[in-house]
Amino acid sequence: MTRLIFLGPPGAGKGTQAALLAKECEVPHISTGYILRSAVTAGSELGQKADQYMSAGELVPDDLILDLIQERLSQADTEKGWLLDGFPRTVPQAEFLQKLLDQIEQPVDFVVNLDVENDVILARLLQRGRKDDEESVILHRLEVYRKQTEPLIDFYRSRQQLVSVDGNQTMEAVYADLKRLVME
Ligand code: ADP
Repeated sequence: MTRLIFLGPPGAGKGTQAALLAKECEVPHISTGYILRSAVTAGSELGQKADQYMSAGELVPDDLILDLIQERLSQADTEKGWLLDGFPRTVPQAEFLQKLLDQIEQPVDFVVNLDVENDVILARLLQRGRKDDEESVILHRLEVYRKQTEPLIDFYRSRQQLVSVDGNQTMEAVYADLKRLVME
């Protein structure tokens, strides 16, 4: 049974590492960014609402994201565990998640914080070239991260649920550290 939350700035390599680890642990990789991008591509109602926020580097409002996560965590494939990537991203989202996990009796094992320096992040994001990876949007996403998401580090640290991993290393070295943590 593996239940993990991945935290870290945009460009930390969360998505890549989360996908690898989820496969290894045989649990679904739940990425809110991926779910939202798919909704935008599909042109669904959710996608139409989310698009403007995402393109501007803003967070999508909670009324769009909370239902989505509640619904996703009620699907049968989550019984064996899950790996959350990109959620929670704000303290209110973390509080919502905590209540939800209590309710469904699925406590999180721990929260992984992928720690990466600012210049490394910027260089990686500029290389990636996704639709929301234009420099001004990237800078805004980083600012949103510092203001709204970074407080989650203290939120989880004070609950003794936080584990930090050095994300400045090569992908392989980060993954090795993660695997060691999970297999312990
Ligand atoms: P990154 O890790 O590079 O920030 P993500 O794929 O996690 O990218 O997210 C892309 C975008 O999707 C975010 O900039 C935001 O607009 C939206 N998004 C994803 N998850 C959330 C969330 N939990 N709450 C609000 N918006 C979200």
